[in-house]
Amino acid sequence: MCYLAEKKGFLLSRCHTGKINMKILNKRMTLEQFKNYLLELKTKPWQFHPKRICLHHTSSPVESWQGSGSMLHYWNLYRSRGWKAGPHIFIAPNGVWLFTPLNKRGKTSSPALRDCIHIEIVGRYYTKDDIMSEELKLLSQNVIILLKNKYNIFGPNKTVLHADYPGGENCSHFVNPFN
Ligand SMILES: [Zn+2]
Repeated sequence: MCYLAEKKGFLLSRCHTGKINMKILNKRMTLEQFKNYLLELKTKPWQFHPKRICLHHTSSPVESWQGSGSMLHYWNLYRSRGWKAGPHIFIAPNGVWLFTPLNKRGKTSSPALRDCIHIEIVGRYYTKDDIMSEELKLLSQNVIILLKNKYNIFGPNKTVLHADYPGGENCSHFVNPFN
């Protein structure tokens, strides 16, 4: 049984179909709100403690981003693959979209990236000509810095690209907002 409930612009979705039980938060935040959210977020010892950050990008162009509607689209897509988890965050020009809880393990097609917070930067970045807007670049950089501080993720090679791992063929190296 699936149900969707909307309360105060906060769309909470939950689905229970056999083994599949992916909860999505579908919550949009400004950078400032995301910063406060991280300050208040508690992670219990038995919950997920990320060790790295992994960057992805969407297959759809940034112009087709529809916020909540896009979140639900991805939720349906991942459910159709039988996934119990998805990426944690989507970063779009209109804010930081929390997709699944940060204190739960996320999922990608690469098992080697189980220890990561998974971030999808909205847009297609398949070639060096697919330019990320300065606005989106800056927002992405700030989100990554906030997450590194929150989880004490410091040192080299702590921000990785899905494209560098098996299963990451649909993601590109041009998604890096620090380049
Ligand atoms: Zn990816």
